[in-house]
Amino acid sequence: MSTRTAVVTGASSGIGEATARELAKQGYHVYVGARRLDRLEQLAAEIGGTALPLDVTDEQSVRAFTDAVQRCDVLVNNAGGAKGLATVAEADLDDWRWMWETNVLGTLRVTKALLPKLIASGDGLIVTITSIAAFHAYDNGSGYTSAKHAQAVLHRTLRGELLGQPVRLTEIAPGAVETEFSLVRFDGDEDRAANVYKGIDPLVAQDIAEIVGFVASRPPHVNLDTIVVKPRDQAEPGRFARRA
Ligand code: NAP
Repeated sequence: MSTRTAVVTGASSGIGEATARELAKQGYHVYVGARRLDRLEQLAAEIGGTALPLDVTDEQSVRAFTDAVQRCDVLVNNAGGAKGLATVAEADLDDWRWMWETNVLGTLRVTKALLPKLIASGDGLIVTITSIAAFHAYDNGSGYTSAKHAQAVLHRTLRGELLGQPVRLTEIAPGAVETEFSLVRFDGDEDRAANVYKGIDPLVAQDIAEIVGFVASRPPHVNLDTIVVKPRDQAEPGRFARRA
């Protein structure tokens, strides 16, 4: 039997990077994709995987990436993120475009392209990293919450559309995870990013990676549909127990 193969998008940092390591540990050959190729090459060398450039907002880049993947048993739709925190009245259209292109259309492009290979594998698994922002609306967050809701609905729709096919679908919806997420959201402002996690014990990327690993190691008849995971210190988006 040839080696089982996993694809992780957005594997150059955070949740994606940790997930690629976890799946490699389980024996998968992991294709890692993102825009920062230098980071990916280092990771791929460590885990014996394959690094390929991937911009999920670019049709040609997605085609080149997915054409290079010969076999796909597991797809982790992880590439994504947030830009800014603004009211609807002050919404930045470019930030919205970035969030929708990356989280929503990016997930659509990659999933669509790899679906035939996932089905052909005989036991495919699609894990999509959405967010608790896919379940809640919060002030100043509409660009991100709307994109995560849309990404989640795309994923949940596929669960029904693929019924009868050998593909499982798992949505993982994390609360606050300390990664480069807030640095990206606040355009590299380190102080502002650090404040998000101040006085709480946030989740770390490895926590989510282990959940993906658990999902991927279930037998073919077990479909974990939705997993919501938050730090103990967080009840909802923006509602934390912070120590002084
Ligand atoms: P992160 O450390 O910023 O990682 C984001 C990853 O996405 C990076 O590898 C980045 O790589 C990649 N990416 C961004 N734009 C891309 C594009 N156009 N094409 C390909 N890859 C792209 O943040 P993270 O927390 O690990 O985020 C991973 C996922 O978890 C995201 O979908 C995020 O929305 C979700 N999430 C995060 C949290 C949290 O609190 N951290 C909570 C809930 C959900 P390059 O820049 O190299 O392309």
